[in-house]
Amino acid sequence: MTEVPGAREELDRARDRLRELFAALVTELTGDPGPRVPNPGTPQIAAGEESGEALRFEYSLHMQDLVPAEGVDDPARVAAEWLERAGWRVALNPARPPYPAGAEARLGESRLRVGTRPETGLLTITAYTPEIRLHEPRSAAPTPPGCPRCDRPLAWFRLGLPGGHSRPGRPGRLRPETWWECSGCDWLGWQRHEGEGLVPMLRRTSAEGGDCYRCGEEAATAVTEPRLDADRHLTAWAVCLACGTSNGMRWKPSLDR
Ligand SMILES: [Zn+2]
Ligand SMILES: [Zn+2]
Repeated sequence: MTEVPGAREELDRARDRLRELFAALVTELTGDPGPRVPNPGTPQIAAGEESGEALRFEYSLHMQDLVPAEGVDDPARVAAEWLERAGWRVALNPARPPYPAGAEARLGESRLRVGTRPETGLLTITAYTPEIRLHEPRSAAPTPPGCPRCDRPLAWFRLGLPGGHSRPGRPGRLRPETWWECSGCDWLGWQRHEGEGLVPMLRRTSAEGGDCYRCGEEAATAVTEPRLDADRHLTAWAVCLACGTSNGMRWKPSLDR
């Protein structure tokens, strides 16, 4: 999977635009002149790989329990009017429990939702950038690199995303990495994109915490080599080879050795 030229920059620009607008809307609704809008670190997978298409990615922003400014007695309506002035297409939804009253807005492919809960009076705002295809479609049969340990050609295997088989009759969505293992020496690892560097993974036994917390499969998880971060904590990234669940790990190294 090679990156589509310019797609990363397009996604970054979409994120920055949405972040600015999000901050201005929070200011409008809460009166906070400099709200701390979260910075979404990495884009999430929004859709794709169901019909041989490449994955599409988006950034999302979410803030909840915001307190409306005095005088903003109907935040959804205030948001709707403000967004309309900014060129968004807006629909106002009355409360339909369990869904609160809110404003749904679109600008091109960007989406935004403002919700209010009458019982608490607090606000929730969620926004998404357009979905952008970041990579060329994955090749049906990626070219096997040589095993870093024993130089035999590696074997590609499909690792699905959790919940990727939710739609019957459709092939499940694959994890974004390209996964490889060695039939000779049991080496395991992945590439971010086909043709790029290989990242080795260490298989864990049940005793090492290798059982998957999500699907329960025993000794199914693998981790990256732990690394020391700037705060002198160890970090690693774990994946379940049965269900594709991944999670980051961070812990304090023990001082007694
Ligand atoms: Zn090998
Ligand atoms: Zn699992």
